[in-house]
Amino acid sequence: MNFLSLIESKRDGKPLTEDQIKWLVSAYVAGEIPDYQMAAFLMAVYFRSLSTAETTALTLAMRDSGEVLRFPKDTRPLVDKHSTGGVGDKVSLPLAPLLACLGFRVPMISGRGLGITGGTLDKLDSIPGFKTLLSTERIVEIVQTVGCVICGQTDRMVPADKQLYALRDVTGTVPSIPLIVASIMSKKLAENLDALVLDVKFGRAAFMQTKAEARKLAKAMVTLGNKCGVNTRALLTNMDTPLGRAAGNWLEVKETVELLSCGTVELSHQLNVSTAQRLDDLHTLVLTCAAHLLVQTSKANSFKAGFKQAEDCLATGAPRRKWDEMLAAQGADLRAFYAKLALDHTAPVVVELKSDRAGFVSKCDARIIGEVVRDLGGGRLTKESSINYDVGLDRIAKPGDKVRRGSVLCRIHAATPANAESAAARLQDAFVITSSSPRTSTLIAEVTAR
Ligand code: URA
Repeated sequence: MNFLSLIESKRDGKPLTEDQIKWLVSAYVAGEIPDYQMAAFLMAVYFRSLSTAETTALTLAMRDSGEVLRFPKDTRPLVDKHSTGGVGDKVSLPLAPLLACLGFRVPMISGRGLGITGGTLDKLDSIPGFKTLLSTERIVEIVQTVGCVICGQTDRMVPADKQLYALRDVTGTVPSIPLIVASIMSKKLAENLDALVLDVKFGRAAFMQTKAEARKLAKAMVTLGNKCGVNTRALLTNMDTPLGRAAGNWLEVKETVELLSCGTVELSHQLNVSTAQRLDDLHTLVLTCAAHLLVQTSKANSFKAGFKQAEDCLATGAPRRKWDEMLAAQGADLRAFYAKLALDHTAPVVVELKSDRAGFVSKCDARIIGEVVRDLGGGRLTKESSINYDVGLDRIAKPGDKVRRGSVLCRIHAATPANAESAAARLQDAFVITSSSPRTSTLIAEVTAR
């Protein structure tokens, strides 16, 4: 086949056949197509887009460019969740053990953070001894015995995406919906799932800034997932405000353990208010993802029933024990983990940012917070940057919180006093305090189901 004629066809807006797409992916991975030609093709796709049939062919060819996870027959459905990324988004960490306790198998292949969005693997790397790089055989073994694993893509999985993503990154072709869909879904399809829930974020700190863009991406992924035999749903969730009350790798692991320890749920039951009010955004999103997967796999007959099932399961403490089991299976030193967990902070400097007036928090800007955490050393500016796992923010005040003059708006965990001071100055603009309570924005805006 002649790749030049395929580039020309796409440039002129002509459709490609499944065979042509299969060939171009395998030839590129085999090193038979140079990067300059593939870059031209990607730019043609950026401008001309791909039909659903072409996107499906590309996704499947990318999935099949490497190893696909194969699991023994089992009554427990294989499920996963994927988030398009945000600030303070640690949902995967408590969700995996919760799902395992709900009778699922969870082969959660996750990624690293870049820019202001955190990465699940970076958070887990802050746990002493924890291994995120596992062989395919070990991934399958842990899923079968523990029920859940959270790890990185092996070298042999979806190599086409690794090569194509690196090229897109340097050729201005990342923001193309069919290319994003093929990239995300090829990796998820390589997990051989029965059901998948996608958390597509929109807003200040999201990849997709508007709800309309997020909806377009969500619909394309839901259509493709279902077409490829994976029961797929998407949630559109707001990322104007960070999720939970901590942002920064180790601080988010600590928040995960608190969530799994059910503190908030127990307290909120005593308050006897409605579910929507008593659960914070992080709890709500974790339980919502679990509830959808229960419905998608016919383990619950309504969202409400699934939510209750997930909430009750969390309250038993079993997911908390499952978390330890997963950590041990992935090499963590539990004694060192608990010793670290007992510390109030692990960064050398902790400074409180205080409110200069009384009122209500009406804004807590996820973009500014994400940038501050990244610049404290908690994120990467380039793929090669190294990470400081201990820095970040915790005790973050969220919209609707009542504050007095002098109340803590957040704590800054930094490597040096100068870093903390510069973060504090930048965070002044992240929080807005008003005299009346804001209308609390709804975290979950929409559900795209088939
Ligand atoms: N995440 C991915 O894995 N791929 C993309 O193309 C964009 C976000």
